Amino acid sequence: MPAITGSEYIERIDQLKTNLWVDGKPVRRKVSEHTAFKGVIESQATLYDLQHDKSLKDIMIYSSPLTGDQVGISYLQPETKEDLVKRRMMTQQWAISSNGMLGRSPDYMNTVLMALASSAEFLRGKENCFPERLISFYEYARENDLSLTHTFVNPQVNRAQFYLEDTNEPIAAKVIDRNSEGIIIKGARLLATRGGITDEIAVFSAGGIQDKANGFAFSIPSNHDGLKFICRESFVGGESTFNYPLSSRYEEMDTIVVFDNVLVPWDRVFYYDNLLVSNSFAAESSFFPYSLHQAISRQIIKTEFVLGLVQTIIDSINIGEYLHVQEKVSEIIIALETLKALVLKSEIEAKLDEWGYMRPNQRTLQVASNIFPKVYTRFSEIIQQICASGIVSIPTEEAFQSDIEKDLNLYLHSKSDDAMTRVKLFRLAWDLTMSAFGTREVQYERYYYGDPVKLTSQLYQTYEKEPYVKRVRQFLEID
Ligand SMILES: Cc1cc2nc3c(=O)[nH]c(=O)nc-3n(C[C@H](O)[C@H](O)[C@H](O)COP(=O)(O)OP(=O)(O)OC[C@H]3O[C@@H](n4cnc5c(N)ncnc54)[C@H](O)[C@@H]3O)c2cc1C
Repeated sequence: MPAITGSEYIERIDQLKTNLWVDGKPVRRKVSEHTAFKGVIESQATLYDLQHDKSLKDIMIYSSPLTGDQVGISYLQPETKEDLVKRRMMTQQWAISSNGMLGRSPDYMNTVLMALASSAEFLRGKENCFPERLISFYEYARENDLSLTHTFVNPQVNRAQFYLEDTNEPIAAKVIDRNSEGIIIKGARLLATRGGITDEIAVFSAGGIQDKANGFAFSIPSNHDGLKFICRESFVGGESTFNYPLSSRYEEMDTIVVFDNVLVPWDRVFYYDNLLVSNSFAAESSFFPYSLHQAISRQIIKTEFVLGLVQTIIDSINIGEYLHVQEKVSEIIIALETLKALVLKSEIEAKLDEWGYMRPNQRTLQVASNIFPKVYTRFSEIIQQICASGIVSIPTEEAFQSDIEKDLNLYLHSKSDDAMTRVKLFRLAWDLTMSAFGTREVQYERYYYGDPVKLTSQLYQTYEKEPYVKRVRQFLEID
């Protein structure tokens, strides 16, 4: 099956009837019609439709090496630097379509799966590791254009460094048994963004595992027996794109994932019961370089959107002459150009890995992933400071259709915009930074790649500082 269309995606997700809970109630009707998911599912469908836009053919799809079918470029295993450029262009095309707001657009997990499969040889010959199954699942996902969510982290019960769970019932998902059919998982995982609106859920260990029963990697369909997704409160403000320009379209939802004696069939188990592999596969594989390359490419588009929004507001209320306003916009420009430069540098400095795949420079991308959580928080602050009270004087669409319309038109217009246009613009600023959706976006970009404290520490620990230390010691002649 070649790259799917939007309607094929929607049909597939509806048919799954995933065990999905919102506000303590199971979703019984079609998930694509539920108010919490309708908008984001439609936005994702638009992405899939772009795969069939003839003018974007070279950007979106390539011929599968297995079947010759036209499949999505986010599944492409890069062997050259040109392949990396193709991958970036594809991600950015999708990101432009969603203004970078879909943090987990399907290309993210397609990339993760591609990366892990490209490093499957790392698993070869190791106890309880099954590289062939990982490769064959990657091929199956690519050929069927599957969408995936993922969950890496254990529930936030006790984060002390040497905590070993000691409860009657498992809290952190673990292997409690195995039989001729597969492994049995019980417990929960902290979070899966988009849980319930993807074909599959991939479950991997991100390291830091102390009990080998907590370390495994597999993927199962979202409607698998015993699997449950518990949603947080929906942040969709409503269907009106005037009132809720972002949450009506891009609210991705976050879910707690519960495994109630889930039997994972052997052909879907990629590894288990191997502490060393559970703690090292993510780092040894090409997971970081490829997934970071995808993530930063999207974040560049989101930054462009922020820049466009800020300048539109400045033009609307005519504040461009103030130096501090110019300085704030320059902060965004500097961040944007830095991220762009880092992605390009990572491509220029890419190298073939031991398995023949072209890896972008991980260190460079690590630097970018340390920058973005900080600058994104600052973007939110800049937007609020530039809008000032404008971000709260934002009557709804309904108010413009009422008896007070005349007042609104008189008092809420701006230098360049009529009142309705101006409010529409400021509602976008509000939805990006102050609504439940907007504040979740800040938290999301902050933790997108894990704990920023650990990211900085990893950079410090892995950055090669010795040559510079040596230079200083030589200069001082203190060797
Ligand atoms: C909106 C959102 C969406 C997400 N979506 C997904 C998803 O789809 N899939 C997924 O797998 N995960 C997802 N995550 C989870 C994300 O990976 C984690 O939030 C991140 O790894 C941090 O872990 P934690 O939240 O458990 O924080 P914790 O580890 O519990 O940290 C809590 C606090 O303690 C500090 N702390 C804890 N341990 C240490 C330590 N060893 N050293 C120093 N400080 C420490 C932290 O710095 C932090 O201040 C999402 C998170 C958010 C906020």
